[in-house]
Amino acid sequence: MMWRKNARMGTRKKVHTFVRVKPTDDFAHEMIKYGDDNKSIDIHLKKDTRRGVVNNQQTDWSFKLDGVLHNASQDLVYETVAKDVVAQALDGYNGTIMCYGQTGAGKTYTMTGTTENYKHRGILPRALQQVFRMIEERPTHAITVRVSYLEIYNESLFDLLSTLPYVGPSVTPMTIVENPQGVFIKGLSVHLTSQEEDAFSLLFEGETNRIIASHTMNKNSSRSHCIFTIYVEAHSRTLSDEKYITSKINLVDLAGSERLGKSGSEGRVLKEATYINKSLSFLEQAIIALGDQKREHIPFRQCKLTHALKDSLGGNCNMVLLTNIYGEAAQLEETLSSLRFASRMKLVTTEPAINEKYDAERMVKNLEKELALLKQELAIHDSLANRTLVNYDPMDEIQIAEINSQVRRYLEGTLDEIDIINLRQIQEVFNQFRVVLSQQEQEVESALRRKYTLIDKNDFAAISAVQKAGLVDVDGHLVGEPDGQGFGLGVTPFSAKPGKKSKSKKTFKEQLSSSARKEGASSPVSGKELDVSTSKTQLTPSSKEGDVKDMTIREQETSSLEPLPSDSPKEELRPPRPSTPPPKPVAFEDFKNERGSEINRIFKENKSILNERRKRASETTQRINAIKREMDVTKEALNFQKSLREKQGEYENKGLMIIDEEEFLLILKLKDLKKQYRTEYQDLRDLRAEIQYCQHLVDQCRHRLLTEFDIWYNESFFIPEDLQVALKPGGSIRPGMVPVSRIMSLGEDAQDKFSQLQQVVLPEGPDSVAFYNAKVKTEQKHNYLKTMMGLQQAHRK
Ligand code: ADP
Ligand code: MG
Repeated sequence: MMWRKNARMGTRKKVHTFVRVKPTDDFAHEMIKYGDDNKSIDIHLKKDTRRGVVNNQQTDWSFKLDGVLHNASQDLVYETVAKDVVAQALDGYNGTIMCYGQTGAGKTYTMTGTTENYKHRGILPRALQQVFRMIEERPTHAITVRVSYLEIYNESLFDLLSTLPYVGPSVTPMTIVENPQGVFIKGLSVHLTSQEEDAFSLLFEGETNRIIASHTMNKNSSRSHCIFTIYVEAHSRTLSDEKYITSKINLVDLAGSERLGKSGSEGRVLKEATYINKSLSFLEQAIIALGDQKREHIPFRQCKLTHALKDSLGGNCNMVLLTNIYGEAAQLEETLSSLRFASRMKLVTTEPAINEKYDAERMVKNLEKELALLKQELAIHDSLANRTLVNYDPMDEIQIAEINSQVRRYLEGTLDEIDIINLRQIQEVFNQFRVVLSQQEQEVESALRRKYTLIDKNDFAAISAVQKAGLVDVDGHLVGEPDGQGFGLGVTPFSAKPGKKSKSKKTFKEQLSSSARKEGASSPVSGKELDVSTSKTQLTPSSKEGDVKDMTIREQETSSLEPLPSDSPKEELRPPRPSTPPPKPVAFEDFKNERGSEINRIFKENKSILNERRKRASETTQRINAIKREMDVTKEALNFQKSLREKQGEYENKGLMIIDEEEFLLILKLKDLKKQYRTEYQDLRDLRAEIQYCQHLVDQCRHRLLTEFDIWYNESFFIPEDLQVALKPGGSIRPGMVPVSRIMSLGEDAQDKFSQLQQVVLPEGPDSVAFYNAKVKTEQKHNYLKTMMGLQQAHRK
């Protein structure tokens, strides 16, 4: 619902320590002295007052504190000790005020005061008054006040307000519970109080119970710790502010600190003493540990007192310790002990911080408002940009199913592109790609598992077993397995698909002779060798024979195992098909005459065009070279003519040079050659461009041929036929698509219906959508079940 954030203030504060001296007519002036600033107290112990004191023992102490309250009124005590702590609680700081001291020194008087005299009321009623007064002064905030009153006696928890008629006695004992929001006491009644008066009556109720208990339960009230807690929660009255603050003010009246176990105490008293001594020293330990910034573990859980106060001690709250002492000489030893405790506490530092929380409900409301606004903004944008109505809501099942269907159709090739609508939709498209992909992977694998026994290549025991059976070679390759390709374990001898055999196939097989059928061991031709990179010559018709020879030789070298004869009766029911795939070169010939015939034809055509162009290019080049040579000869002849002319003396006519006919003809010839050269050169350039283009086409065709071949090969020899049968009806499987995808696109009719519906529904307004959604979902479910049943039947066949 809500979570807490502690806003660090960064400033460290000390625990505020005060001393209040109980007024007395017998004040030990000799022994107790106050400093001038009222912030220190000096104790002088006369040696003779303590029997058995050794000479060198300390007799003087000086205690520095935050204030000494001597003859101070309840009013002044409150002003000095509590006012700031309470004020800060309304700003979100936890505060704890504790009264410490020996029994009778005035702790209860300070904390509660006398209930019969208003003037002598203590910190508790004054704190409640202040809280309600401050609430009145803050109309901008809705502030609630709750109170609880807990007593801890001999490590047991008592609810001092459980006697209220609406609370009722608790069935189970109270426990201290910690959660991320802090510490609370399970079973302790917490009372909402809307006004001072209510709060006071609760306080009196508790006080009365405390007194009654001390009589009826034989419980000495000075032996118990009492914690009165005021819980404040302040919400801003403006809706936009989702932050709110919570705080607690713990007003603690501690059990008497006097050492009880010294002499003669026994039974109940001894037990009480032990508990008190322990809890007070644990309190001290915890507070000291809190002040030590290096300490990570604080021993809160050692006793109920520190555990219950866990989030209100030291740390991030305002802490005040008021030590009540007697002013009489007779009590000096206890006084000294109390003052020591106070001065140790003074060294502890705390780091008060605001308890800021977030109202989740308000936050959601605010975010909803913001979201609605942004959606409106988007709608305006869309309409300005002339976009059709786009839905930015999260996708529902049906929309996701539609995207799934789009992705499948896209993968099959029946959908050219997926329109981009918005970010959410793009993300979903990618999601569905992943979904489809993983489904297909599983589908293919399980189909293979149905058909073949798969053996882990690292499972040597299994491999040696199948080796013995003659199903696998010494290297762990399965019989008839092309490298890195197959994983089917075949048992039937190789036989090509009947009825699809071509003439060329037969001759090819003859060429291969029986050795090809002895294939086994490592595959004769690896998948790699059929790759574009190395297959150029292989696929060129002219060099085919050489390659085949090559393969045959390699097969002979490596073949060692005869495939086992088939005796599977199942195989005979279906059109027989080899369980051991044929070697790839053989299969490739089949492929070129079957499904690959068209690509192969185009490939050959391109190839012959390429060859023709190459031939022409080489002819042109030869011609160019010839022209070049002739040009050289002509140039030489011209040069000769020129030198002749120079020797014979030049003829000039009106500034024009006169040359003879022979020279003139040579010049004409050179000009003509140059023209020829240019034309031929231009031709060559065009041819080269054409060759380059043709080469590209040929490469593409070859790649396509090989890719399609691989797919065909897998389909024909690895993907079970029953699966393929299931895939066949209803559409052309484009070669090159993974056919398993067909099985996955379910309920497309439903999708179409939905799209149509959407168009019909939209004008009717959004209210109708839920109705139609329900309708479509039901139809979809039916559709899906129908399709699944159909598929299962197909599989069973
Ligand atoms: P504690 O709770 O420490 O055992 P109390 O508060 O019960 O001690 O005080 C014991 C008695 O002394 C009570 O009767 C109380 O009214 C009285 N008393 C204590 N402090 C003062 C004080 N400052 N002024 C007047 N009376 C006091
Ligand atoms: Mg008391």
